Amino acid sequence: MSSTASRQNGTWRNWGGTVSARPAREVTPACVDELAEAVRRAAEDGLRVKAVGSGHSFTSVAATDGVLIRPQLLTGIRTIDREAGTVTVEAGTPLKRLNLALAREGLSLTNMGDIMEQTVSGATATGTHGTGRDSGSIAAQIRGLELVTADGSVLTCSATENPEVFAAARIGLGALGVVTAITFAVEPVFLLHAREEPMPLDRVLAGFDELWAENEHFEFYWFPHTDSTNTKRNNRSAGPERPVGRLAGWYEDEFLSNGVFQAANWVGRAVPAAIPAIARISSRALSARTYTDIPYKVFTSPRRVRFVEMEYAVPREAVVDTLRELKAMVDRSPLRISFPVEVRTAPADDITLSTASGRDSAYIAVHMFRGTPYQAYFTAAERVFTAHEGRPHWGKVHTRDAEYLSRVYPRFAEFTALRNRLDPDRRFGNDYLRRVLGP
Ligand SMILES: Cc1cc2nc3c(=O)[nH]c(=O)nc-3n(C[C@H](O)[C@H](O)[C@H](O)COP(=O)(O)OP(=O)(O)OC[C@H]3O[C@@H](n4cnc5c(N)ncnc54)[C@H](O)[C@@H]3O)c2cc1C
Repeated sequence: MSSTASRQNGTWRNWGGTVSARPAREVTPACVDELAEAVRRAAEDGLRVKAVGSGHSFTSVAATDGVLIRPQLLTGIRTIDREAGTVTVEAGTPLKRLNLALAREGLSLTNMGDIMEQTVSGATATGTHGTGRDSGSIAAQIRGLELVTADGSVLTCSATENPEVFAAARIGLGALGVVTAITFAVEPVFLLHAREEPMPLDRVLAGFDELWAENEHFEFYWFPHTDSTNTKRNNRSAGPERPVGRLAGWYEDEFLSNGVFQAANWVGRAVPAAIPAIARISSRALSARTYTDIPYKVFTSPRRVRFVEMEYAVPREAVVDTLRELKAMVDRSPLRISFPVEVRTAPADDITLSTASGRDSAYIAVHMFRGTPYQAYFTAAERVFTAHEGRPHWGKVHTRDAEYLSRVYPRFAEFTALRNRLDPDRRFGNDYLRRVLGP
């Protein structure tokens, strides 16, 4: 199996190794009719249903004990409408395949996250995002959706057709139905000029508002136990195209960011006391660089070092305080953290359960190397994030429940009312949805 989650002896496992499940059966439908039939048969057998993407969520959002619907045969581009600036893709299409196909057609998504292994439906279902001043998550680029609902019927929605479904189903957590096709807004492919450079944390925090305002896509990584960050500024460029050289790209993106980083994490796991020294070296390892390339080659890079992640969205104006509190917490704790903290932004959007719903947001993500105890760090970080009305990424580790989430999402009840209407018997339910949405 390619990059999708692993399967052994009937057990499904996610990428991070944090979740496993034993579905009663698996189906791999090749068309919408087959998928609808699988949902109807599950209902006859009294089984719950869950479509999975590539298993890149750290939470058990995709886990099921019922019928597991695999995406592999529901892939590819259905139509491109150049006049409308849209592309319609089958829901199981990996983002990588979409990006390559769009580039061949001279088109691109506007914004995306750090990797492109996820399927389009899996990525959007949990609100996967990159960083942007004006452009939001991948789901915010959706213009239309087709889904199979609990009774096995096909429902389509857009801003003008079933708008109340469209408002919620773009980030549907798999709770409203099985998405079968997604129509994305696309634009003629463009070039991004990338500028990556180390910067002291104090300078980044003091200048955060300017760095955000002056760049279309600003983000940074802070290395715990140090005062250092790596900053990334991506802005549209008239060219010329100047990709990272093959050797330099291999050295920075494979050798340092994956190979050496993996080895450093092994050492850190064996000797936690060495982590602050390793962090100081890591923070200096990547040098400043600039390059200009098409969007997906700038936004995404390979992530081979396995980790566990928690990420919260806080109001953008709270990000500097939140980060200072996170740093103070790490500094006074015995924690040893070998993974950098990633900080990104998104403008407010109009999706019911988007982490950026109705609020300009900043994301703070904490990571731990796989196999290292992460609970103490994540618990302490979560306390900092929730003090700022943080909203957890739906696909990343968190401990929030429906009671908390209904307080930080003003439109929470709108989502659950729609869920009651579309899936009254909770055909698409699982333990995770019960916790975050209620029974
Ligand atoms: C290395 C790595 C890097 C990451 N980088 C980022 C990042 O930069 N930004 C970010 O925001 N997140 C990031 N994530 C998180 C990841 O993008 C999300 O967890 C995403 O949901 C995973 O997509 P997937 O295809 O693996 O879906 P899965 O994890 O398999 O499923 C996620 C959800 O989608 C639902 N789903 C899947 N297919 C369908 C369908 N057809 N219909 C209805 N529901 C469906 C599932 O039921 C489940 O609820 C990263 C994760 C990893 C492991």
